[in-house]
Order: sequence, then structure tokens, then C-alpha cells
Amino acid sequence: MRLCLAVLVLFVAVHCRKVFMGDQVLRINVESEEHIHLLKELEDDQRWELDFWTHPVSTELPIDIHVPYSSLHVTKDFLQDNKIPFSVMINNLQDLLDEEQEDLQINNIKECNAKSFDFGAYHTLEAIYSWMDTLVSDYPNLVSKMLIGTSYENRPMYVLKFSTGGTKRPAIWVDAGIHSREWVSSASTVWMANKMATDYGVDSSVTSLLDQMDVYLMIVNNPDGYVYTHTNDRMWRKTRSKNPGSVCRGVDPNRNWDAGFSGPGASNNPCSESYHGPHAHSEIEVKNVVDLVRSHGNFKAFISIHAYSQLLMYPYGYVCTSIPHQAELDSVGRSAVQALSSLYGTSYKVGSICKIIYQASGGSIDWSYDIGIKYSFAFELRDTGRYGFLLPASQIIPTASETWLGLKYIMEYVRDHPY
Ligand SMILES: [Zn+2]
Repeated sequence: MRLCLAVLVLFVAVHCRKVFMGDQVLRINVESEEHIHLLKELEDDQRWELDFWTHPVSTELPIDIHVPYSSLHVTKDFLQDNKIPFSVMINNLQDLLDEEQEDLQINNIKECNAKSFDFGAYHTLEAIYSWMDTLVSDYPNLVSKMLIGTSYENRPMYVLKFSTGGTKRPAIWVDAGIHSREWVSSASTVWMANKMATDYGVDSSVTSLLDQMDVYLMIVNNPDGYVYTHTNDRMWRKTRSKNPGSVCRGVDPNRNWDAGFSGPGASNNPCSESYHGPHAHSEIEVKNVVDLVRSHGNFKAFISIHAYSQLLMYPYGYVCTSIPHQAELDSVGRSAVQALSSLYGTSYKVGSICKIIYQASGGSIDWSYDIGIKYSFAFELRDTGRYGFLLPASQIIPTASETWLGLKYIMEYVRDHPY
């Protein structure tokens, strides 16, 4: 019944959705430090409303910029004048969004009629929450749903707890969807939650893991943002909190943690996609997780799942110096990626956030590492930019299946290396 209602909400919501007709995503392969410098200036300049999907940091990683139709000419002129080579990655963003919406609606009707849940489809928050209840009722001795608080707009924030008993056993934290437009992170985590539940008692590795440790999975870390991507703006990344004195809403919840807060790689401009917020943990969505992890006190791993770029990263982001456990985390990361790649050959890079992408302060895994959770990692899932945040639903299960192998490697390692 709930799923059927979701269909209605989806159709009704069409009217207020932001349209991206003619917008393009340009891919830039910078060739010099000068190019990077020029693009950084462009990123800081809000005038053309450019949305940097990846950031200008090194000559090794491509930079993808979502350019509104109205700014296409000036942006391309700027690039050509400065001899910065670019190609058009997505010719008309709205075409991809239309396809995605059509898929969503067809699937909703299908699920509604069949009273089923397709892991190879994207879902509304309501459908995901409803599926959580199904999982809990199917595996009552293994999975429970914890309410850890509510979001800024008063939506419940749920964590799936996998536990076979004991009190405050050593635990592993996994979260997804902190950046709301990264849909595949939440969709993959749904699949992985189901995989873990069905594999307990069947797969010896999962069984032994859950006989010794608890696993906490947070599928939608930013529920307000996630709903907003469905109803209003598919490209929304931040929370939905109001910023006093600004017309722009939202804080980048992955610049809001108390780890080098407000340092390099975060913006003090409320209109920026990487606005760090008024103070550390100002966002209730962040604070709810902080409070849970702190009060639990026995988390041994903290893993955040993002998209896109195909990276597995460890701390730090807020400084570029190596952490004390750099060698160990690098080696765990490399083995995890080897396991991940064994399925379809998907290639991943491994490294510290600062060295592999860019200096970014206030991130979740820097915070978790600094409070003593040694095994802190962040995934950036598929792809490398062909679709970016609009990864087709047909890639959800392949993405989840390969990510599961990497995640499972990390969890096994954590189980076998108590500290
Ligand atoms: Zn992200």
C-alpha cells in the first residue's frame, strides 16, 4: 500500500521539479598547474552557477563541470581563451533525468502491482524505509531498525543493526547517502544489507563476522536532501537547513564534522556546494550519528559510501600529512580493491583523501579516525564520469555486488585484527 502511494507522490511532485534542459557536463583534462589555478578561480566564482562534480586539484584526475545552459557560451569561451582542453561528457542533462524518471515510475507501478522490491531500481525514501521494515520482519533475530533521531525537516533517521547478541559488541559502522544526489550509494547499500542478511548462516565469512561483531548500516544519511532530489532538484547535495542571512539553504554534511572544521577544501559561503556550516556538528543529521557513535563507544571501523570516481580512501582529508596507520590502511585498501575488481575488473584508486582527490576539511572519516576508530574508509563508487551522479539503474546491482566484495574484505580484516 505504501509503495502504491509513493507512485502518486512521484507523479504529483513532477510540477515543482527543477529542469536542466540543455545543461551540459563538460570534462576537462587539465594539462598544467596554471589550468588548475584558473579552474579554481572559476569554481570560487558563483556568477555562472557552475556545479563542479569533481574538483580542480591535479593534472591526473579529470574535472567534470555541470554547466547550466545559460552559461554554456561563456564557459566554453573561457576554456578556449585559456587553451584548456575539454569535451562534452553529457550533452543534455535533462535527457538523462527524463530517462531516470521514466525508469522510476515504471518500476514503482511494477512494484506496486507485484508488491515486490527490485534491488536494481532506485527508490523514494518512503519505499526504502518500507523495505527496511520488510527486512526486519524477515530476519527478526538478526536485523533491527534503530531510530537515531530526526532530520532538520523532522524525518526519522534509521540505522539497520545486524546483531546476533551480546551488548555493545565491537561494531562496524557503514553509512551511505550523506550527499543526497549520490543515489547509487544508498541503492547499493540496500542491496548489501539484503546480502548480509541472506548470507548469515550460509556464507561462513559473514556468519563468523556477525557471530563476533555487530554491523550498523545507515542507508540514507541525509533524508531531507534525498527527498529533495526526488521532488525538486535531482542535483541537490547538501542538507536542507536554513542559513540565517542567506537565501541559500543547506550545509555540506561532509564538511560539517569536527575534524579540521572550516579548514581548506570547505567553503564559508552558504551558497557553495561545500559550505561547512556555522559550526562543527551544526547539522542535526551529522550530530545524530556523532552522538550514536560516541555513546556506543566500541566501533572498530567507520566506512562512508559516496559516488562517484571509483576510489577507496582513508584519512586524512583536512591535512596532507600521513596518518600513523598509513601503511596498514593503504594495504587493507589495496586488498579490498583487489577483491572488488575481481568481479568485473572495475578499476579503483586507493589513497588518502588529500592525496587522491583533494584537501577537504570536516569529513566524516577524519572525525572517526581522530576519535580512535582506526579502520576509517570512504568509498567513491561507480562510475568515472560517463554518467556521474546519474548512474543508470541497470548498474546498481553490478556496483553493489563488486562493492560488497571490497566491503566484506575490510570487515573480515577488522574482525581478524582486534585492537
Ligand atoms: Zn559524496
